[in-house]
Amino acid sequence: MVTIWQRDLQPAHTFTVWLLAHGRLPVRARQEYLEDRLCTFCRHDEETMDHIFFRCQTVQQLWGRVRGWLQMRPQMATYRCMLRTFRRQYQGTSTLARARHLAMSAMVHHIWMARNYSMFEGKRFDGELVFRKIQIHVFRTLGVLADQVLRHE
Ligand SMILES: [Zn+2]
Repeated sequence: MVTIWQRDLQPAHTFTVWLLAHGRLPVRARQEYLEDRLCTFCRHDEETMDHIFFRCQTVQQLWGRVRGWLQMRPQMATYRCMLRTFRRQYQGTSTLARARHLAMSAMVHHIWMARNYSMFEGKRFDGELVFRKIQIHVFRTLGVLADQVLRHE
């Protein structure tokens, strides 16, 4: 866990990832008093952590954009799966490796924020907007180097 998210990361992003890693995000499936446990985004499946971040159809396009941009082939359908993939394949200190870590933590954070905006303010999920926020975050953190490495988007 720590090895993956240690560098570069924003505290807000790290905190959301920490909550996800420890199963502590208050998704609907965890709220026993709630009768409605359907996903805030798709209203189709139960809102579990793995569903809302990895499996929900609403976030698939965003996943596709991020995976395409950062050349991440493996499908990641659960948090554990993402962790395993990063440990096995995406270690290192290259700009691309750092960009992947940054993007993943930013994505978890922004999906969760978007879920809350959707739940409490009725705002629709905008995957393209989230994708742009992730990119801006990565470029701001890694700077000129990243611009050269990741230009081929
Ligand atoms: Zn859903």
